[in-house]
Amino acid sequence: MKRIHILVFLLLIITNSFAQDTYLLCGKLIDTKKGIVKSKQTVVVRDNKIFDVIEGYKPSVKKEDATIDLKDKVVMPGLIDMHVHIELEFDKKTRLNKYILNESDIAFNAVGFAKATLSSGFTTVRDLGGTGVNISIAKAIEAGKIPGPRVFTAGKALATTGGHADPTNGSSRKLIGDPGPKEGVVNSIEDAKKAVRYRYKNGADCIKITATGGVLSVAKSGDNPQFTVEEIKEICNTANDYGMHVAAHAHGDEGMQRAILGGVKTIEHGTYMSDETMELMKKYNVYLVPTITAGKEVEEKAKVKGFYPDIVVPKALAVGPQIQGTFGRAYKKGVGIVFGTDAGVFEHGYNGKEFGYMVEVGMPAMETIQSATITAAKILKKEDEIGQIKKGFYADIIAVSENPIDKIETMENVVFVMKDGMIYKQ
Ligand SMILES: [Zn+2]
Repeated sequence: MKRIHILVFLLLIITNSFAQDTYLLCGKLIDTKKGIVKSKQTVVVRDNKIFDVIEGYKPSVKKEDATIDLKDKVVMPGLIDMHVHIELEFDKKTRLNKYILNESDIAFNAVGFAKATLSSGFTTVRDLGGTGVNISIAKAIEAGKIPGPRVFTAGKALATTGGHADPTNGSSRKLIGDPGPKEGVVNSIEDAKKAVRYRYKNGADCIKITATGGVLSVAKSGDNPQFTVEEIKEICNTANDYGMHVAAHAHGDEGMQRAILGGVKTIEHGTYMSDETMELMKKYNVYLVPTITAGKEVEEKAKVKGFYPDIVVPKALAVGPQIQGTFGRAYKKGVGIVFGTDAGVFEHGYNGKEFGYMVEVGMPAMETIQSATITAAKILKKEDEIGQIKKGFYADIIAVSENPIDKIETMENVVFVMKDGMIYKQ
C-alpha cells in the first residue's frame, strides 16, 4: 500500500516538472470577435488555457512540447449549443421512460449523449430540462469523470399544471398526484419563488420555463399561453437574485409576449412569432434560439406511424415546418440570434446541422458561427473565458476540413476537438 503511495507521488512530481505545451499549427483560424478568417496562425496551449496566439507557423522547440499539424484545417473555438437535453433522446418508447427508467439508467444513457455532443465539436451546452439527473451529469463532466461538454443546466424545467413541462402529463390519474414547485409545477407568485429557489438549491445554473404549450407533451395545445405575466416576472426576478437567467420555451405569440415582458433572456423556438413580438424582442434585448433541426425532425417523425402518441402528431406537423421560416424573418428584422438546436429531440451529435439550416434562410455563415461562440458566451456570462481563441481563454478548440464560409456543411463534420486543453478527437 505504502509503495503505491510513493509511486503515485513520484508520478505527480514527474508530470508536473515537465509541464507540456501544445503548439497547434492552424492553416486557417476563425477570429470570432472580428468575424474574419486568418491564415497561418499558431495557438499555444498550456495546461487548460490558451497561452498565446502567434502569427505564422511556429512549431515547438523543446522536446517535451508537442506540435499538432492542422495546416490543412480551419480552426475555431469550441462551439456552444444553447438548447440541448443532455439526459434524453426521443424515440418511440420515450413516453414510458418515466415509469421504467431509474435515475441510474438515465445517467448511463447520458454518458453516451455527452460524448457524442463533445465529439461533434460542442464544448459547451446549455441544458434546458430533464429530471434533475442533468445536474449530476454536469458535475461528473466538470470533475473529469466522463467526457462531455461544459454543461450549464436548468435542472427540471418549470411549467404550470398541465403545462408543457408538467412531469405527470398523460399519466393515469392514479399516478399523477399533485406536483408542486419542487417538481417544477408553478401556479402562483409564491410557487414561482419557491420553484426557482429549489432549482438553485439543487445546483441549477439557469431557469427554463415552458411559456406556452409544446409539441411533444401529451396535451392538446402546442401554443397556448401557460403562465401569467406576474408569475413569469416573479420567476425572472428571483432567478436574477441568484445570478441565473431565464429561458422560455414558446411557440405561441401571446405566451412569447408575456415571457418577454416578464424578463426572460431567450425565447426558444419562437414558432408563431408576429412582427410586433419581433420588435418587442429587440426592445427588451431578448434573443431567439432557433432550434430548426428539432423542427425538421418532429415534422419527419410525425409521418412515421406510431412514433409519437396520436395527440402529438398534428402539433408536430403544424409547428415543425414553421420554425425555419420564422427564424429567417426574425434574423432579417434584426432580432438577436443565439445558436441552439434542441438536441435530444433528435439524435445527439448532429447539432452541427443547424448551421446549414440557418444559412439556408439568409444568415451569413460567419454570423451563424458567431451566434454559437461569442453571442452564446455572452448570454452565459462567460465571454471572457469561452467563445474565442484568445490568450487566457479556456483551450476549447475545434477544427473542420473545409472553410465553412464557403461550405457550411463542413460544420457537421468536426475532425479535431480539444476541450480544457485535452484532445478528445484527432
Ligand atoms: Zn427543448
